[in-house]
Amino acid sequence: MSSNTIKYGRKTIDFRLIRSNRKTLAIDVHPDLSVVVTAPKDAADSAVREKMQKRASWIIKQQRFFENYLPTIPPRRYVSGESHRYLGRQYRLRVHKGNEDVVKMARGQINVYLKNPKYKSRIKPLVTDWFRQRSEIVFREIFDSVVAKANRHGIEANDFEIRRMKNRWGSCTNEGRILLNPDLIIAPKMCIEYVIVHELCHLQEYNHSPRFYRLLKKLMPDWEKRRERLNSCVVE
Ligand SMILES: [Zn+2]
Repeated sequence: MSSNTIKYGRKTIDFRLIRSNRKTLAIDVHPDLSVVVTAPKDAADSAVREKMQKRASWIIKQQRFFENYLPTIPPRRYVSGESHRYLGRQYRLRVHKGNEDVVKMARGQINVYLKNPKYKSRIKPLVTDWFRQRSEIVFREIFDSVVAKANRHGIEANDFEIRRMKNRWGSCTNEGRILLNPDLIIAPKMCIEYVIVHELCHLQEYNHSPRFYRLLKKLMPDWEKRRERLNSCVVE
């Protein structure tokens, strides 16, 4: 196995090269953004590099996909006793009879009060709305707290928008708008901070270039630890 590098525009792609008995070359991009190339034993280095150049834009696309990659969140049934994640912690959903239809969090539980507990179909919209409201409040707090630091590094940030995205925790549009997935509310605050700071850095450095990572490191020296935690926070 050997370490190699190719240039693609201003970007650098590092990859590990493994020689094997296979007949064709295979490129794998892993969620940690590492690239592993498995090549036939007799393939010339120049042929491997040529192939890598051809696939470079695909590799970058894959890495970008993994960057703030959102794993599939197991579907919830919204029934009493079920566990739900909020800011990295588990909470039990409990349904009670109440004077109004409302959700309140207390003592490690998400309590859903229903005027008529028979109307179980009310639970899902109530809980979903509650999570949405919480995400607006929590994301706002975190955004405001990290944006001051970003400003000091020359990043001009406007605002963010909460938008459901299929496979991303966060995103930065070409127009410089930061999008945050409402499901990010299940993650610990340190991870929400990471996603916001990551996207803020894209306002200055659109690609995942070495300059992007230098900026990210300056703003958040322990970002790798936070990303790891984020990747592991979605479990059944
Ligand atoms: Zn990114």
